[in-house]
Amino acid sequence: MKCLCCYEEYEGNRCPVCGFEDVQIIGDNREEALKKIQPMIDAYRVKFLGEHEIGVALMKRKDISSSEITAVPEKLSFGKVQNLIGKDTWLGRSIVAYPDAKKDITVEAVVSHASRERYESASIPGMENAGVIDVGVHVNNDYSFSILISTNGKTIGRSQPIKIRKG
Ligand SMILES: [Zn+2]
Repeated sequence: MKCLCCYEEYEGNRCPVCGFEDVQIIGDNREEALKKIQPMIDAYRVKFLGEHEIGVALMKRKDISSSEITAVPEKLSFGKVQNLIGKDTWLGRSIVAYPDAKKDITVEAVVSHASRERYESASIPGMENAGVIDVGVHVNNDYSFSILISTNGKTIGRSQPIKIRKG
């Protein structure tokens, strides 16, 4: 069955992705019943999306004087999920990309909910000529998101969709 809130397919009474509890319907007029529960679904969506935030953890150079780069992870947020749906949102930074031999870049996405954080590795292929990039996010209506890479204002890579799970 499909979750009424985030469209995840699951078995059971409660969606494992967003936590929405399935509703039982009595009577034959399913369409009317769905209309009645729509405000409940909308309220749950607003609450869920308002509670979760997406960001990335990037390495920030720690010691400027050293020729050896020592780096520490720094978390940068794109903001609350409700403000990210259906569009591309960018950090607006200049980031130097070092693709590995596989020509992939792995970006650590961070999904925050209250004080909990879930790290999700987003692998982005085809990055051999990445250079100086910006990192962005695109959130879909089904609570999945992709990490984006752009250079000179042009999107050149995107990760597979990752589901935002209840923290
Ligand atoms: Zn769900």
